Amino acid sequence: MPPAVEWLLGLMSLWLLTYGLVFGSYLAFGWAFTWWSARHPERKIQPTRDGQKRRDKEIRASARSLVITCGCFAGGLHLQLTGFTLWEPLPLTWWSAPLMFAASVFLFDTWFYFAHRLNHVGPFKKWHLQHHQSVAPTVWSNYNDTWFDAFSQQSFFLFVPLIVPFPPAIFIAHRVFDHFNGMIGHSGYEFAAGPSSRAPWPLASVMFHDMHHAHFNYNYANHFSFWDRVFGTIHPEYDRRVEAWEHREEMERQAS
Ligand SMILES: [Zn+2]
Ligand SMILES: [Zn+2]
Repeated sequence: MPPAVEWLLGLMSLWLLTYGLVFGSYLAFGWAFTWWSARHPERKIQPTRDGQKRRDKEIRASARSLVITCGCFAGGLHLQLTGFTLWEPLPLTWWSAPLMFAASVFLFDTWFYFAHRLNHVGPFKKWHLQHHQSVAPTVWSNYNDTWFDAFSQQSFFLFVPLIVPFPPAIFIAHRVFDHFNGMIGHSGYEFAAGPSSRAPWPLASVMFHDMHHAHFNYNYANHFSFWDRVFGTIHPEYDRRVEAWEHREEMERQAS
């Protein structure tokens, strides 16, 4: 078999495998989360809105957009595994692994912030509106994207492995983290509101991206509030609402 055909077959197999794993775990986690969250209405961020009525539409849209998301990831991994990188990957040790993982997450957050802001301007806006049809997002909303959205945000995993010398294991772990973090971050149920998810700390709670869906032009980043604070796009009520949620939880604990 010619080497180019073998290379392409390798890419297609990896793409297919990634798609099966990502879409399969999206469905399994989505159902498990929906079952669990029905028993915890007290955690719902927008209690008067029911995003679940868009479930079937969002699952169908995710099945389409994951072709691109998984293609970006499988493409980057295959290029890396077959040596199309600028540098040799750095060694993976007990201390370098967490450092590289954290750096990869920060780099992705930076990429995501600027790609996402681009999705909100001029001619690009029309492709991003589909994602914003969920004003109250649910666990099914994470991949409710058009192909343009998916490519602009997820091509991090296609290009960055070629120029940043982190080993494949780091990008795989990062993508697994991003998969579940993205689903929980869209779930509409709060788990992470606390002092570390508001000023002066850079971490974000679930409410952070939930407010992006509810108010549109704020909170563009993914994992951290850092870039939104730097560029003044953080929702002016965000810190106060996180604090109010903490006090609510405190009062519930005292009452029980
Ligand atoms: Zn948006
Ligand atoms: Zn979203």
